[in-house]
Amino acid sequence: MLAADHTRLADDIKGVEAAECSWLHVDIMDGHFVPNLTFGPQTVADLRPKTELFLDVHLMLDNPQDFVELFIKAGADQVTIHVEPSYDISATLLKIRELGAKCGVVFNPGTPASAVQPYLDQVDIVLAMTVQPGFGGQSFQESVLEKTSQIAAWRQERNLDFRIQVDGGINAENAPLCRQAGVDTFVAGTAFFKSKDRNLFRQNIETLT
Ligand code: ZN
Repeated sequence: MLAADHTRLADDIKGVEAAECSWLHVDIMDGHFVPNLTFGPQTVADLRPKTELFLDVHLMLDNPQDFVELFIKAGADQVTIHVEPSYDISATLLKIRELGAKCGVVFNPGTPASAVQPYLDQVDIVLAMTVQPGFGGQSFQESVLEKTSQIAAWRQERNLDFRIQVDGGINAENAPLCRQAGVDTFVAGTAFFKSKDRNLFRQNIETLT
């Protein structure tokens, strides 16, 4: 949603529905953990009655533990939290579940895959950032795919069923590489909203993966 027109979010979201995508990925930034500001819980609350899409809220915050409840009450279906800041990650994941939403952990391109390993049996999704988070429109870092492959191997070894998601610079060219590296869930921002034919874009991702 970060790549949408923020003055007409409800209209742009209709475009996501029209392209038969099922999730809406909402990037929340605090100007601290990442050098940018985006949306708050009020935006999620205002969007909730306007769409049936699964609201996937990605918290890029230094203190996500203080905000999960607000975003879930606002209508988030899933909340993902970063492993880089220092807070009780395990307790925060439990809290998200207790509040009735799905939960996941996120790691940045510079963070080793081992940082998410302790939480794998607690999550519905692991999100690998394929750019340094903060701004839309950056190019995809292919080196992250070694880590998603490792996480997919752990998933298989431990017989777990969480999703593996990538976020940042995803397009129809690199999506198949991600798929080969264990990824099953793709966040497309710029590539989707700026594409001339969004339906075709979604079909391309589906076909190539
Ligand atoms: Zn995101």
